[in-house]
Amino acid sequence: MANPSLLILAGDGIGPEVMAEVKKIIGWFGAKRDIAFDVSEDLVGGCAYDKHGTPLADETMAKAQEVDAVLLGAVGGPKYDKLDFSVKPERGLLRLRKEMDLYANLRPAQCFDALADFSSLKKDVVAGLDIMIVRELTSGVYFGEPRGIFTEGNERVGINTQRYTESEIARVARSAFELAKRRDNKVCSMEKANVMESGVLWREVVQEVHDKEYPDVELSHMYADAGAMQLTRWPKQFDVIVTDNLFGDLLSDLAAMLTGSLGMLPSASLGAPMANGRPKALYEPVHGSAPDIAGQGKANPIACILSFAMALRYSFDLGDEATRVEKAVEKVLADGLRTADLMGPEGGKPVSTSEMGDAVVKA
Ligand code: ATP
Ligand code: MG
Repeated sequence: MANPSLLILAGDGIGPEVMAEVKKIIGWFGAKRDIAFDVSEDLVGGCAYDKHGTPLADETMAKAQEVDAVLLGAVGGPKYDKLDFSVKPERGLLRLRKEMDLYANLRPAQCFDALADFSSLKKDVVAGLDIMIVRELTSGVYFGEPRGIFTEGNERVGINTQRYTESEIARVARSAFELAKRRDNKVCSMEKANVMESGVLWREVVQEVHDKEYPDVELSHMYADAGAMQLTRWPKQFDVIVTDNLFGDLLSDLAAMLTGSLGMLPSASLGAPMANGRPKALYEPVHGSAPDIAGQGKANPIACILSFAMALRYSFDLGDEATRVEKAVEKVLADGLRTADLMGPEGGKPVSTSEMGDAVVKA
C-alpha cells in the first residue's frame, strides 16, 4: 500500500518556524516507528505571491486535492497589507477551503493540567477539559443572499441572510456524530430555534440524522446563548458541540480561550469522504503569522504540532500515535518548558521554538 501523503504549506511569518518542528516529529515517526509519510512541500500566501504573483498557484491547488491531508502554517504579514484584495495572502487559504469544500471546522478545547492556571476560570472548572466544537464553515449568514448595503427610502440598510439547506445541515451533523463515536459519544447541537427559521430546520435535521443514522450517540439541543453560558459555567458537561457558521465562530473562540494561549490551539477543516473513506482535510494552527515575533525563535510550535496530531487521528487512522504526540506535549509542559507566550506568573524554563520541538521529539 502507498504511504499516506501529506502536503506541507508552511506559508509566511512564524509558519515556517513552527512547521520545522513538525518536520522533526515526522522524521521521528519514520525513524523510530517505521511510519513513513510521502511529504511534499509548496508555497501558500505571501511567499507564493512573491514567486508566482498569486497566493495559491493552480498546481498547488491540484496537489492539495490529491493528497490525504494538507498541513498549513500561517499566511500573511505587513509586507502584503497593501496588495489588491484578489491576491492577498489570505485568499490562498480561502481558495483551499472553498475548492476542497471543507464544510466542517473542528476546534478542540483541551486543557493541559500544567497550564490550568492560565485559564480565566477556576482551575477545577477547566482541569482535564477536552471538548470539540464543530463549526459549519461554508454556508449560513456569511454567504446567504441577499447580502449588501442597500438604500431603502431615504436611508441605507445593511442586509445579511442566514440560509441553510437540509443537505448542508445533514453533512456537518454527520461529521459531528462520526467524531463523537471516536470520543465520548455525546453531541450537543446549538442554534436559536426560538427566534430563527434556519434554527428550526437545523434542530429538525440534526435530530433526523441522529434518529436514522446515529441512534446510539447521545444527542441534546441547546439555544446558542444558553450554550455560551454553559460553556463558561461548566464546560466539562460537553463532548462534541455542533453549530452553524456564525455561532461557531463565537463559541469556538470562547471555548478555546478557556484553555490558555493562542500558541496552543490546533484546528482541522474537513470535507466530504474521499475514495479511501477518510475526509478531505486541512490542518492548521488557529494562530496567524504573528509578524511581531517572526524570525526570532520565539514562536510556540505546539499549536502546529497538535494540528499534525489531529491529522494522524482523522486522516491517517493513527489515533494511538496522535495520543503519543499529545502525551509528549503534556510531558514537556509538565516538565516546566515554556515558550514566551506560556510564561506565566509561576515561571518555568524558558525555551525557544526549536528547543520546544526537540523536547517534544525526545518525550
Ligand atoms: P491573523 O489575522 O493571521 O489571524 P492575528 O492578527 O489574529 O493574525 P496572530 O498572528 O494570530 O494575529 O497572533 C496574534 C499575536 O499572538 C501575535 O502577534 C503573537 O504575539 C501571538 N502569537 C500568535 N501565535 C503565536 C505562537 N505560535 N507563539 C507565540 N505567540 C503567538
Ligand atoms: Mg486572527
